[in-house]
Amino acid sequence: MDCSQDTILGQWAAICARIQEEQHDRFAVRWLSKIVPDKIENNRVNLLVPSPCIHELVKQNYADQILSLWQEQNAEIGGLDLQLAVTPRPTAHPVRTQKTMPTVTLAVEPEENKAIPSLLDPAHTFDTFVVGPSNQFACAAARKIAEDDSITFNPLYIHGGVGLGKTHLMHAIAWRMKELFPDKSVLYLSSEQFFHQFIRAMRPDKTNRFESTANFRDLFRSVDVLMIDDIQFICGKKATQEEFFHTFNTLIACGKKIVLSADSLPQDLQGIEDRLKTRIAQGLIVDIHPASYELRLGILTEKAASLSMSIPSNVLDFLACNITSNVRELEGALNRIVAHAELMGSPINLETTRSVLKDILNIREKAVHITDIQQAVCAHYDLTLLDLKSTRRERRIARPRQLAMYLAKTLTPYSLPDIGAQFDRDHTTIMHAVKTIEGLLPRDAQLAADAAILTRRLKEG
Ligand code: ADP
Ligand code: MG
Repeated sequence: MDCSQDTILGQWAAICARIQEEQHDRFAVRWLSKIVPDKIENNRVNLLVPSPCIHELVKQNYADQILSLWQEQNAEIGGLDLQLAVTPRPTAHPVRTQKTMPTVTLAVEPEENKAIPSLLDPAHTFDTFVVGPSNQFACAAARKIAEDDSITFNPLYIHGGVGLGKTHLMHAIAWRMKELFPDKSVLYLSSEQFFHQFIRAMRPDKTNRFESTANFRDLFRSVDVLMIDDIQFICGKKATQEEFFHTFNTLIACGKKIVLSADSLPQDLQGIEDRLKTRIAQGLIVDIHPASYELRLGILTEKAASLSMSIPSNVLDFLACNITSNVRELEGALNRIVAHAELMGSPINLETTRSVLKDILNIREKAVHITDIQQAVCAHYDLTLLDLKSTRRERRIARPRQLAMYLAKTLTPYSLPDIGAQFDRDHTTIMHAVKTIEGLLPRDAQLAADAAILTRRLKEG
């Protein structure tokens, strides 16, 4: 086969053009333009990749596509090798010299001076973020970081369960800053991307002379805001943490802002060093709780408004009542009924919604409801529902009420505010009741027996 350098370069250029056409992703094309096709040997294409970061990105996202496009042009090609280039080779193809080669092109493009990357979802802005009691504080803190040039707290640490809007808020910070301070650079990385960057830098080997710990830190030092998402994933990675700690201190000392997200409080992060937790705790810690019914309905209404078809309000209400776990699932359910209506040309109403979401709802139908718990507890202790929801404090009523709250927390997926609403109380009362019963169960045999009987009865329906 013809394996001359010109042919290889021509084939590579055609492949880059095809990817550009198919992906509409100018950042991807930029990474690809930094790659030099080297040779074809033993039916394998060898590509020289200028940095570990690009190596990783191409390996994970483009290698299969590149190989099959190459095979379209040359059926004999059997494989693709990505080789880290030690020194850039002179070539007709545009490639940067070692000195100007950006270390991280994930989210900051130095040569374009601080552009917002395609990794940020354009739909995730403050405008599309619906605010309610469960995320109000987190959203206000995120806005403050984005809009206020001075630093009043550092870092900002956002924590909460999956699908509750942490990533959305981080993207919103980046977009807002881009709007207000186009000269500032914002680097947003998943902790996985941070980790990949880091291991490359920490373990320089023969093929990797571009990176060093020092320029790893320098890279981060050059950004105005560093955001790392889901930092629980760097837990247990001792060396990464060590470097993260130094990077973190350096940035704070230079007056750069840091935003972190995780699935739990800093002190509950397993396998994170105490000094890092202490450092994080010096900033502002905000949490996002599961959304209440009102917020779920608000989010659905907002999402529905951006759709081309109208969704009846009783359907939105049905979704808000029945899909309580997190916002991502709520969105997923809405998308499913819309896709179904579009594909089948059928209307969206309660009946079609129930049928399309049968699998999700079936699981929930078998689940215990708070009203079942209230009825069962009332029957067991011979109380009325009014007694149970009243503010009467006699032990004969107060204890079953606390037990009912405890059972609601342990047997249903509802959040504390949701449970509170069913008992006409706020979430702190529910939390207190849960703690009280948890404390009593090991000591109070009668209460433990009652709890066991009720649990069995409720679960068996
Ligand atoms: P997390 O990072 O906490 O797991 P995400 O930020 O990825 O969650 O949110 C999951 C989905 O829910 C995203 O599509 C996001 O836009 C949406 N979402 C979450 N909270 C809100 C909100 N308050 N308003 C609008 N959309 C939201
Ligand atoms: Mg996330």
